[in-house]
Order: sequence, then C-alpha cells, then structure tokens
Amino acid sequence: MTRVVRTRAELRAALAVAPRPIGLVPTMGWLHDGHRSLMDRARAENATTVASIFVNPRQFTAADDFARYPRSESRDLAICSAAGIDLVWAPAVDDVYVPGFDTTVSVGAVAAPLEGAARPGHFDGVSTVVAILLTLVGAERAYFGQKDAQQVMVVRRMALDLAIPTEIVGCPTVREPDGLALSSRNVHLNPTERAAAPVLHRALAAAVDRWRGGERSAEALRAIMRATLAGEPLARPEYVSVADAATLAELDRLDRPAIASLAVSFGSTRLIDNEPLG
Ligand code: AMP
Repeated sequence: MTRVVRTRAELRAALAVAPRPIGLVPTMGWLHDGHRSLMDRARAENATTVASIFVNPRQFTAADDFARYPRSESRDLAICSAAGIDLVWAPAVDDVYVPGFDTTVSVGAVAAPLEGAARPGHFDGVSTVVAILLTLVGAERAYFGQKDAQQVMVVRRMALDLAIPTEIVGCPTVREPDGLALSSRNVHLNPTERAAAPVLHRALAAAVDRWRGGERSAEALRAIMRATLAGEPLARPEYVSVADAATLAELDRLDRPAIASLAVSFGSTRLIDNEPLG
C-alpha cells in the first residue's frame, strides 16, 4: 500500500518506522517509464522506497515554463502505487522552503557549462532543493536519471561537499521505441514536433557511431551532430557538446571518457539528451 504524506511532521513519523535501507526517487511528477525505472531500481535495492513529487519553483528559469509544467497528482499516485512505492512525499512549497527561506546551495565548475550556462540559476535551484530533500528523507540511496547527466554530476558534487551521506545512484535513460528520451515535457510537443524530436537521438547515435569507428576529433563529432540536426527543419539547436565526462569541459581530442550532449528546441518545447562516449 502506498502512503501519501505532505508535511515534514508526517514524513518524519512515517520514516521513523520505515524498514531500512531507504531508497529515494526525487521527481517533479507527471511520471513516466523513466521515473518508473528509477522506482524499480530503488525497490530492488532497498527495504523502503520513497518517491517525492515536487515541482520545484526555484529550478525554473522562466515563469511560463513553471506555470505550464504538467501536473496530475491522481495520475502520479496511481503510477507510484503500481510501482510498489511505500511512501509518496508530495509537499506544498512551504513544507520544502520554510518561511523566510534565504539560502542557496550553489555548485561550482560542473554546474557552469551546458544547462548551467543555458539556464542561469537552474542548478542553484536543483542543488538547493535536492540538499533539502536528501536531508529530510535521510535515505541510504537516491536515484537520478542519466537523461539529466549534468544534474547527476551536480548532485553528486553537492552531496559530497555538504557531507550528505546518501549514495547518489545514476540510472540509464529510458527511451521511446523511436529513440526519443522520455520526458514530462514531451507532452507539450505537437504531432509534427513529436515526429521531429527523435532527431536528438539520431544525432547522438551518429556521434557514437563515428566514435566507435575511431573518430577522436571532438569537433568532427560535434559537426556530425550539427549536420544531423540541420536535416530536421523544426529542430532549433541550443548547444551541441562533446565534453570531458568528469568535468564537462569541452574537449579537442577524445583521449578520455567523454559525453555528447544536446539541447534542442521544437516550438516552445526544449529537450535535452546525451550519450556517453567511452
Ligand atoms: P523530473 O521529474 O523530470 O525532475 O525527473 C525526475 C528524475 O527522473 C530525474 O532524476 C530524471 O533524470 C529522471 N528521468 C527523467 N526522464 C528520464 C528518462 N527518460 N530515463 C531515465 N530517467 C529519467
């Protein structure tokens, strides 16, 4: 049976009697099979699974994006229940940010490029809320998707630096059959945009192919991704990156583990995706 709690007091009381270890899956709701894969992993590895559902206003950089973020608690609770989640924590904004809240957790270098550069303040919002969630839940493990690879890196750095003992577990990206990474934002794509969106994965797959074939020039891999995206008129690329997988610094030569990342808009919907190279 899935239990739903909202206030910190309810959460504390429920966690006090929960068998350990505890696995936490932080989400912003509008759950899909990507979230479900995190939940399944958390269930397999822990005695108690907790999912948080909180659309965090601090990590949105445009007010309209926050306002139009899809929400349906009843739908989400049905998915949590089917996934066998023990506890859903669905707090109000005031249960996460106490009155007068005035602290920002800001991670340095790894939060600066890519999403950090494209969405100033986004990772401050992410690090701040995740620090609060991890502290309040006190889970042994917390599960994050590699779809948001930079987010996993930022959260790992934050937990290490702030001595938060929760282990941060990265989980593989779940995709539609045509390669499009599942995302709550996909719901905003109209049918023609939805048909165009798999170009992100095609571009990444082309880079992976070239890399497997021996290409070690990062610029050559960026060029093949740009060329693939250029073949899709609806795709408006924001960045095309081949970066060091440890630091996210852009590379010249692929002489170490790397990650290829893309941010591309279709109409008013912005999608991101990535693939490891090595
Ligand atoms: P969100 O609700 O979008 O904030 O996502 C909550 C968690 O689910 C984050 O750790 C995401 O990285 C992860 N996630 C989102 N989409 C996917 C996906 N397609 N595959 C795997 N994990 C995902």
